[in-house]
Amino acid sequence: MKPRIVVLGAGFAGHTAALHLSRLLGRRAEITVVSPGNRFTWFPSLIWVGTGTMPSDEVHFKLAPVYERIGVHYIDARAVEIHPGDNTVIVEHGDGSRNTHAYDYCLNATGPFLNFAGTPGLGPQTGNSWSVCSVEHAEQTCEQYLRIVADLARGQRRRLLIGTGHPTATCEGAAFEYLMNVDADLRRRGLRERAELVWLSNEPEPGDFGVDGIEVFHSGVLATGASLVRSLLDEADVQAVMGAGITKVEPGKAYYEQAGSDPASVEFDFAMLIPQFRGIPLQYVAADGSDISKELTQPNGFMTVDGDYTPKSYDQYRGSDWPAVYRSPRYENLYAAGIAFAPPHALSKAKKAPGGAVIQATTPRTGMAAGIMGRTVAQNIVDQINGRPPSHHARMSEIPAACIASMGNSFWHGSAASIIMTPVARDYERYPKYGRDMRLCTLEVGLGGAWTKRALHSAFLWKLQARPGWPLIPE
Ligand SMILES: Cc1cc2nc3c(=O)[nH]c(=O)nc-3n(C[C@H](O)[C@H](O)[C@H](O)COP(=O)(O)OP(=O)(O)OC[C@H]3O[C@@H](n4cnc5c(N)ncnc54)[C@H](O)[C@@H]3O)c2cc1C
Repeated sequence: MKPRIVVLGAGFAGHTAALHLSRLLGRRAEITVVSPGNRFTWFPSLIWVGTGTMPSDEVHFKLAPVYERIGVHYIDARAVEIHPGDNTVIVEHGDGSRNTHAYDYCLNATGPFLNFAGTPGLGPQTGNSWSVCSVEHAEQTCEQYLRIVADLARGQRRRLLIGTGHPTATCEGAAFEYLMNVDADLRRRGLRERAELVWLSNEPEPGDFGVDGIEVFHSGVLATGASLVRSLLDEADVQAVMGAGITKVEPGKAYYEQAGSDPASVEFDFAMLIPQFRGIPLQYVAADGSDISKELTQPNGFMTVDGDYTPKSYDQYRGSDWPAVYRSPRYENLYAAGIAFAPPHALSKAKKAPGGAVIQATTPRTGMAAGIMGRTVAQNIVDQINGRPPSHHARMSEIPAACIASMGNSFWHGSAASIIMTPVARDYERYPKYGRDMRLCTLEVGLGGAWTKRALHSAFLWKLQARPGWPLIPE
């Protein structure tokens, strides 16, 4: 009988895994992807949808035809239960009906649960604040943003609040890109002078981005991401509120706590605030029917894999804490990759506000990292099918991150910060001074980055649709 592999989630991690499984195993395995909505979303371009500089139909494509072409079975449903004792998953279709699917290997790549409810009053469902974390959210955000643009065009003054909507939110990079694209768009429209932009973030300092920032050498001189982002904010005339955790949102007002200050609030006419991410609420069930979700996940709902989750203080964190093969320590045929796996700890420093809130930018698992993990898990499953232990590693303290932060989507007037850091998670055992290989850390700002970001959009959508030559484009 062919080995049955079930991939839950068709995002950066799951879809990449499915492509590689199909490439590596072909018809030697039965590969099934379960994901709701029949859609792959290219998240990096949602910031352009949110400012109206890219139509939303350019950032996603239908999965079913791709899977049909590469011989992968696709189920348009969401997983609700994983039974690792019985090797089955229970999936729920749009009409509420449920089915059971058996597997020999399972990858949980279900991404984040957007926990708007973690901050009272936050999110599109309240109408108080907006988000760019899905196609629909970015479309709604665009509609609200264009209303503000119309007000500005009529001569009114408006305040736009952009940043993180929870003390432990992540994805600061995406929020920062949205901020800089709003700034660029308002300048292009000649309306910037009437708009006040406020950047409110849980990062301890500008440019931290949840990865403890970056240092680079420019012509032998040390430069930091913090100083660059500070100067970008200054140049753009953006007011920055750093180390701040939003605790409540009301119409036109956000309340926040900040280390070293009394609780405060900020008023706004428009807000785009990223929510806290948690694991997708899946139930894990043992062979005897008992609920083992707490044993297989961390308190944030993400799945425990082969990392070291022992509680430690910040200065005790080690590169070797990070998972290598992304397999459950309890079930040899169950993996989690991308945002779905639980990071052993945050990379960014925590601050405590006098009100008690812990303010900490939590670890981002970017698209590139998620793709690398998806490919790694695919290779490890192939190892196991071939009777070998998993041999492919992709620790976040080993892999690089390449990010291009857009600061304006225009062929002639665009700009972007191109950032490469190696590794993502600092490893002071290997690189005692900075925790990173400084030969492989760069940071450049300019028009070239804007072109690269646009080119990556097209190149990756080509790759992810499994078009000819796709394996040549790296994750
Ligand atoms: C606005 C924005 C901009 C970004 N920009 C960048 C960038 O420029 N560069 C970069 O590297 N990263 C960027 N990121 C981060 C990047 O999008 C994430 O790192 C990446 O999407 C994580 O991949 P993933 O596969 O873990 O999750 P996702 O891509 O979110 O995929 C999760 C999948 O699981 C599915 N799913 C959910 N629930 C279930 C369920 N119960 N059962 C089955 N399937 C389920 C979802 O439908 C989806 O298909 C950005 C993110 C955002 C929000």
